[in-house]
Amino acid sequence: MNKIIPVQKNDYIDVVFEDLTHDGAGVAKVDGYPLFVSNGLPGERAKVKVIKTGKGYGIGRLMELYEKSPYRVDIAGSDSHMYGGCQLEHISYEGQLKYKENQVRQVLTRIGKLKDVKVHPILGMAEPWHYRNKAQVPVGEKDGKLIAGFFKPRSHEIVDTNESLIQLPEINEAVQAVKEICNELGIAAYQEETHKGVLRHIMARFGKQTGELMVVIITRTADISQKNKLVEAIRARLPKVKSIVHNVNSKRTNVILGEKTTVLWGNEVIYDYIGDVKFAISALSFYQVNPVQTKVLYDKALEYADLSGEENVIDAYCGIGTISLFLAQKAKKVFGVEIVPEAIEDAKRNAAINEILNAEFAVGEAEVVIPKWYKEGNTADVLVVDPPRKGCDEALLQTIIEMKPKKVVYVSCNPATLARDLRVLEDGGYKTVEVQPVDMFPQTTHVEVIAKIELR
Ligand code: SAH
Repeated sequence: MNKIIPVQKNDYIDVVFEDLTHDGAGVAKVDGYPLFVSNGLPGERAKVKVIKTGKGYGIGRLMELYEKSPYRVDIAGSDSHMYGGCQLEHISYEGQLKYKENQVRQVLTRIGKLKDVKVHPILGMAEPWHYRNKAQVPVGEKDGKLIAGFFKPRSHEIVDTNESLIQLPEINEAVQAVKEICNELGIAAYQEETHKGVLRHIMARFGKQTGELMVVIITRTADISQKNKLVEAIRARLPKVKSIVHNVNSKRTNVILGEKTTVLWGNEVIYDYIGDVKFAISALSFYQVNPVQTKVLYDKALEYADLSGEENVIDAYCGIGTISLFLAQKAKKVFGVEIVPEAIEDAKRNAAINEILNAEFAVGEAEVVIPKWYKEGNTADVLVVDPPRKGCDEALLQTIIEMKPKKVVYVSCNPATLARDLRVLEDGGYKTVEVQPVDMFPQTTHVEVIAKIELR
């Protein structure tokens, strides 16, 4: 039997928002039927126009606000809300933190079926702006000029932007300078529809502790006209630059980086510190984007791992070995696994420059390498996972359950997949002891969580 949908397209209705979706849209219910309305905040009363109705939910547009939330802040005239990925910019920081903490609690209960799990208050930033140490900005063309900025939501239309409120000033400056230089040199922008043109993305990365800047030019063709002039101009305009890298991506794809990477000038890496540990970071490696909060997150990982110096530790999804080397200072031995070969090269180099001798690194899929280690008789007392948004592979979770490390520390950038994986571990004999949300991405809907899990 089909349930009747209580609203129709183009209806105008008065609603009260009850909640936010994980994308930051307001949720109002009409006779139990959810309407998702961008820019609506919990507690607000508003007039809404119904734009679309589907089986499970509808989409509305906010027409008039009758009553404002105390958490609403005025962002009139800001582009970053729409285009710059700052989906929560219209919510005060206090309100954002509350929303993220609630989301973690809800998801752990709803998806993880975890009752009474201890969720600590989220750890936020004192200054929740201009924190990102990296940008990768798509390049396009408008009126014969090269532009770079952000995609309009749900489209591939680029909005030219010079200033992002969440990027470090050095990153904003670098992207703008490279854009201007490429314009001056007449380097053609890549065109998605025709797969012609040259410059696809400008990427910049900045080591906040060292002041070292990396610029990565991503092009469709291996040739860039006036390569030397480009390098000269970047060095002249951006004195902090230590590395200029060229990446070629000749495919028709949304993936930003291609397979061929060469150094145009300077070092192939830049350096940065987290705490006392120094890290080399190459263009293709993952590195946390919020250096201030990364320290908070890794300190928590260290606390949850609770090492005495006797433990063998496995760090799955280890990237350039950041967490591994943090833990190595307190463990007997750390084994890191990571799928990107360049990242593992960085990890080995990082162990060497910090004179850390008790860390080893392997390239491969965590769900393949760790089961293999286990079969060979190599187990861990503590296992750390820090997977991408899709969470851990089922094969890895099964190996953890068989291997039975006393502790698992789960670092997650997606509470939904964390909750799903915690359920598997709980059913396999583990208990989620406590959970700490950390705000790594202020102004955006992204939530980072770290969980301490113990064998029952
Ligand atoms: N712990 C690191 C990296 C976390 S990001 C840090 O904090 O910096 C997740 C990492 O997992 C990325 O480096 C990505 O390349 C890697 N990765 C993705 N899928 C993987 C898989 N199946 N096996 C191992 N590593 C994987």
